[in-house]
Amino acid sequence: MHPVLIAARNPGAMTGHGNNTYLIIDPGGGAALIDAGVGHEDHLAEIADRLAADAAMLERVLVTHGHADHAAGAPAIAAVHTAAVFEKYPWPEEDSRYAVPWRALADGDMVVAGGGLLTVLHTPGHSPDHIAFWHEPTRTIFSGDLVTLGSSVMIHSSRGGDLAQYMASLERLLALNPRVLLPAHGPRIDDPTAVLIGYLEHRRSRERQVIAALAAGHATVQTIAESIYDGLDPALMPAAHENVRAHLEKLEAEGVAVEEVDGWRL
Ligand SMILES: [Zn+2]
Repeated sequence: MHPVLIAARNPGAMTGHGNNTYLIIDPGGGAALIDAGVGHEDHLAEIADRLAADAAMLERVLVTHGHADHAAGAPAIAAVHTAAVFEKYPWPEEDSRYAVPWRALADGDMVVAGGGLLTVLHTPGHSPDHIAFWHEPTRTIFSGDLVTLGSSVMIHSSRGGDLAQYMASLERLLALNPRVLLPAHGPRIDDPTAVLIGYLEHRRSRERQVIAALAAGHATVQTIAESIYDGLDPALMPAAHENVRAHLEKLEAEGVAVEEVDGWRL
């Protein structure tokens, strides 16, 4: 399996340098693309060029989750690669925004890519439909938005994100003892165990900060966020609010914190 990184050409505040998509061409002339990007013409042109160079045909597009930077390019790809099948874990209210006939993937499914098999891992938390793809022979995981080096992963608690699920998903990747993570943003990760442990520790330390903020009398998402993310770029404060809310909801589910009319408390 030789995945080729093809940049989606969508740099921005929330996507960093833009999304990574991965084209896997098998010697028999079939090909799979992991994540659809946003339909940028240069992305589409590079996919077409790579396929033409190997006289290959795009057979399937495997989408890690329904966020726009991963799924919005599906109709543009479908218009050119008419034989391609589009597959993801269902998230009906989001999937309907991208007009292709989605085929549903489930945890444990095996899909053909690059002449080999990828195992579908349902890894919710960043979004309810998030999946990763595990290539056991090379111990490689296409890890979507679970891990991004040099940046924090958003848990959109107001849009189906769930921090407890997210941390369980990181634990699941860790338990597979992968050799390489190929993420949807940022560079490839050659030391997955250290990075995954670091991510889990980061969330646990944030949780301790949220608990300390509550103990100090901060009762709203805003004041808790300001107490933790002192000096944060104001443009990133909405993301900080999402993360604080995600921690509070996890703590509420665990019976550690409660939300009352006048705010949150332990
Ligand atoms: Zn995402």
